[in-house]
Amino acid sequence: MAERRKPMRPVAPLPSADLPVVAIVGRPNVGKSTLFNRLVGRRQALVADTPGVTRDRKEGLALIRGRYVRLIDTAGLEEAAPDTLFGRMRASSEGAVQNAALVLFCVDARAGITPSDEHFAQWVRRQNRPVLLLANKAEGRSGASSALEAYALGLGEPIAVSAEHGEGLADLMAEIVDHLPPEPEPVEEEEEEDDFAELAFDEEVIDADEPEVIEPVRPKGPMRIAIVGRPNAGKSTLMNALLGEDRMITGPEPGLTRDSIAVTLYDDGDEFEIVDTAGLRRKARIDEALEKMSVSASIEALKMAEVAVLVLDATLGVHEQDLQIARLIEREGRACVLALNKWDAVEDRIATRKAILDRLSISLAQMRGVPVVTFSALTGASVHRLLPAVRDAWTVWNARVPTGALNRWFEMMLERHAPPLVDGRRLKLRYMTQVKSRPPTFVLFGTRAELLPDDYKRYLVNGLRETFDLPGVPIRLQLRGTK
Ligand code: GDP
Ligand code: GDP
Repeated sequence: MAERRKPMRPVAPLPSADLPVVAIVGRPNVGKSTLFNRLVGRRQALVADTPGVTRDRKEGLALIRGRYVRLIDTAGLEEAAPDTLFGRMRASSEGAVQNAALVLFCVDARAGITPSDEHFAQWVRRQNRPVLLLANKAEGRSGASSALEAYALGLGEPIAVSAEHGEGLADLMAEIVDHLPPEPEPVEEEEEEDDFAELAFDEEVIDADEPEVIEPVRPKGPMRIAIVGRPNAGKSTLMNALLGEDRMITGPEPGLTRDSIAVTLYDDGDEFEIVDTAGLRRKARIDEALEKMSVSASIEALKMAEVAVLVLDATLGVHEQDLQIARLIEREGRACVLALNKWDAVEDRIATRKAILDRLSISLAQMRGVPVVTFSALTGASVHRLLPAVRDAWTVWNARVPTGALNRWFEMMLERHAPPLVDGRRLKLRYMTQVKSRPPTFVLFGTRAELLPDDYKRYLVNGLRETFDLPGVPIRLQLRGTK
């Protein structure tokens, strides 16, 4: 538990009204839209048009250092109120600022501070919202010094950035996250940790009333899916096939609808939500960024998802980047379904399937037994098998192995292979319990248990996977030494 970062809880449902709002304000032309596009940009998951305004206000979901925020760009709204410039700015920003957890007040460091910046800053100060002052267009060597002038606005220390050139954004993001209200505690996991704290180290904690078999957990809301894979594996085609119509939006710039963040599907009474980072499917404008981008977009989608559908182009076999994405799925602790796409174009299906699975399970132990679905996203053939496989993977991911059954199995495993000697002494392994699901996480107690060699750990993890039927999910096994 020590070194692993707490997994980020998916935000549900997306986009949530509960996410903190970050409003970008400032006079026209200081670079608000450019900044908005930078922060939401290619990794853009959502841009919603808010109806009812002459010029729609741009709103996007941005992932900033692992936190989702609703970013609002007030640019373009100035024309809505036929007043003075200040009146228009104020009218356009009022709603956004009042709802904002944080206001990003932008000025143009090259143009310097203008009277309308000052006037507007005064108004923003009176709104009593947390504000970060951004001196934009501060690229290059003279950037930082031209930013200093903005001190005069009384909104604190200016943060020098260049939205267009991408400079200063790392600092900006760190500042943004520092100024957000604290993240709500992940309730469910806290409880689980409390349970764990109360565990004694003896067999009495085995609850006699506990069921003897794994009882499937039913989803309370939609099961969240991330469709990940290399460029050209067929993710957008699959998406379209799942939707049954050409509904995917692949437009180049903001203006996408809410559907592009989470598409809801129903299958046999179950609800699924495909978490979509548009960047996954949106073609990179610059070719060289393509490979890199598909990985970072995958990470973001994975953080929000419960089950990852790893799409491979079966005609191409397994490539290093596929393995890289598979490792990310493991690292993020997601259940996985392997989707072998373009099955229509595969000639020797048996050999192809075997070659791909062999390669995957050699490279990644966690991929052993992963559920596999073969289909053609292009023709639609067998695509209907995907969601049932996702449901099964979700169920396994949520599984709880009863402690009694777990420990009977554990004793059997110890008998079959005694734990190894470490420094000439046998490790005394005593007891195992599942402390959480999503993904299944087990703790093993014993004298000097923390010294358990990796191969014995693997023996146990593989045994868990087989005995309790936990294919295609990362299994975590933590060791706790007792005195
Ligand atoms: P908005 O009206 O505040 O939304 O401003 P825009 O984002 O439309 O930007 C106004 C102009 O400033 C555009 O021509 C941008 O290309 C330019 N711009 C935006 N950010 C920067 C920057 O960091 N440096 C420079 N030199 N120009 C920028
Ligand atoms: P993405 O980059 O992963 O979103 O991939 P696309 O969905 O854009 O597909 C890449 C290319 O593969 C396109 O030319 C598709 O028409 C093609 N493609 C996708 N699925 C299939 C399939 O099942 N069979 C065949 N033969 N081609 C496919």
